[in-house]
Amino acid sequence: MVRDLDKTLETIGTSYIDLFVIHAVDRIECLDDQIRKVAERLKRGGKIRYFGFTTHSNMEQCLAGAAKLGWIDGIVTTYNYRLMHRNAMEQAVKSCAKAGIGLVAIKSQAAMAHPTATVGVETDTSLALAHRFMAKGFTLHQAKLKAIWENPLISSTFSMMPNTTILMANAAAAMDRTALSSGDMALLKTYANETLSCYCSGCAGICESVAPNHIPIAKVMRYLMYYHSYNDYEKARSCYHRLPIGIRQGIAGADYSIAELECPNRLAIGDLLRRASHELA
Ligand code: SF4
Repeated sequence: MVRDLDKTLETIGTSYIDLFVIHAVDRIECLDDQIRKVAERLKRGGKIRYFGFTTHSNMEQCLAGAAKLGWIDGIVTTYNYRLMHRNAMEQAVKSCAKAGIGLVAIKSQAAMAHPTATVGVETDTSLALAHRFMAKGFTLHQAKLKAIWENPLISSTFSMMPNTTILMANAAAAMDRTALSSGDMALLKTYANETLSCYCSGCAGICESVAPNHIPIAKVMRYLMYYHSYNDYEKARSCYHRLPIGIRQGIAGADYSIAELECPNRLAIGDLLRRASHELA
């Protein structure tokens, strides 16, 4: 951690950074006493102001656990119009706010791992949403950002903006103060429920505890999301290739029937992972 931080400070030419995070924490036990001591030492030395982590797996448990630790300042977490309605997420967000932890949302568009993500999952609700938001002067993408900003317990959003069109759209959404109505929020929730089986919620502890050969199902779902939603084929494939060869070789032939039964979103895990072994190999 210290080596990485020093390298970063040198690269960006500054003496300190505001928020130093450990990336991709998926269980709070990773943040042990040794890490706490390093974080406190870095703060005392003035190299960082705040310490925290990012998470896109088992987010609710990580947030709730962090709220009890007492030495986490900020968390960058997957949070969007799909996840915000889950009771566990609502409670975890409140616990963090009570503990003084700043929350930054990522994966704001709730992009899907499913192959239909490339064209979007069109339902009557999605069409109604598009018309509704168009009449108000913003797009469905902008509305998804606004849905997050409606929650005062979320400090900010990190949004990937690979081109100036998206940058301009996000900036316009941020500066436009039109709030979403309760009807807008309800319709977004309906759409989330209708398309649930295309979205992986990152609740890795559920499916991976019954997955054969410790296959990291949630990670592979995320790589499929990079592939099908972000159309970032290079990133999807390079992430997939970082999985140990033994894991990759076992993905196509494994039996995911129990994991599918456990999945709260009823994702076709077997079909999707076999697709990943073909498309991302
Ligand atoms: S595949 Fe299902 S159980 Fe596993 S992380 Fe995704 S939504 Fe959760």
